[in-house]
Amino acid sequence: MNKLRAAVIGVGYLGNFHVQKYLACAGVEVVGVVDTDEARAREIATKYRIPAHTDFLPLLAELDLVSIVTPPATHYRVARACLEAGVHVLVEKPVTETVAEAETLIDIATARGLVFQVGHLERFNPAVIALRKLLATPQRIEARRFAKYKKRGTDVDVVLDLMIHDIDIVLSLVDGELADIRCSGTTVVTGDLDIAHARLRFQNGCVAELSASRVHKEPVRSMNVYQRESYISVDYSNHALLVGKLDDSGHKREARDVTFETQSLVRTDVLMDEISSFVAAIAGGTQPTVSGEDGKKALALAVEISQRINHSRGARAASSGDPG
Ligand code: NAD
Repeated sequence: MNKLRAAVIGVGYLGNFHVQKYLACAGVEVVGVVDTDEARAREIATKYRIPAHTDFLPLLAELDLVSIVTPPATHYRVARACLEAGVHVLVEKPVTETVAEAETLIDIATARGLVFQVGHLERFNPAVIALRKLLATPQRIEARRFAKYKKRGTDVDVVLDLMIHDIDIVLSLVDGELADIRCSGTTVVTGDLDIAHARLRFQNGCVAELSASRVHKEPVRSMNVYQRESYISVDYSNHALLVGKLDDSGHKREARDVTFETQSLVRTDVLMDEISSFVAAIAGGTQPTVSGEDGKKALALAVEISQRINHSRGARAASSGDPG
């Protein structure tokens, strides 16, 4: 069988790793790397002995699939051109800048029978996969995602850069419509939201509290899920799961104890798993694990949270006479 011909568009920090993973995929041939920064394109091309390009358009006719690992503001334009040329797309998160753009991309992919996957990497985290097996009806979820400040990624606010990972996971865990959103946030370094909190209440009663910061002292990526008779704590960074359970040894309810157990999970290469699943969806003609629709839902909620926070900050500034 012929190999699938791939290119990575945008080979900065994360694109470099996409190239590495495709090179390790048996059924894939990497035919080029693309970056508008010519020096960076050459550096990565030389490292992996692949042709370098500064424009992806002339390459499209040769390709079956691409990873788009460019800044979010470019995702729509690049993904649209790729899909219109009949090329399967894995685009990094956030899928696009607006929900309307995401919808257009989904429509093009659907009309042409193309795989359109969004890079919500945490779906492939073994702790999240193990969590799903223990999930009953979550009643409360607490997610914290804190990062040290770095300039990379600050072209979007902290909700679209970091919180969107947890938004996607929560939407994939809770079976129900949203009933209410409360949120707050603040600017510390970038002039845009650097810290954000959101409290999501679902119609089935589940409440999810999400906190994200990109100006934290050290990285934290965790999620606690509480449901009847059990508590599950996800450590995203270490691929670990702590499970607290009420004992079921027949004691009266008030005499029952909670026992904690750390599940030992095999660490995995989550980016390799994400890319393998994209390639498998193309080869098998199946739906990707994280579809364009999933990416759109996470984006829609992230945009809503951002807008609400910015709106209330603007209103506060106006009422205090502060120009913002
Ligand atoms: P980066 O700035 O390190 O790299 C982006 C690269 O894209 C740069 O080299 C830039 O020159 C190039 N570029 C810009 N416009 C281009 C265009 N039109 N065509 C080709 N190349 C272009 O950024 P990064 O940290 O690698 O992030 C890239 C994307 O990956 C962003 O969407 C970001 O949100 C996402 N990301 C996802 C995760 C995750 O956990 N899933 C982690 C980090 C970054």
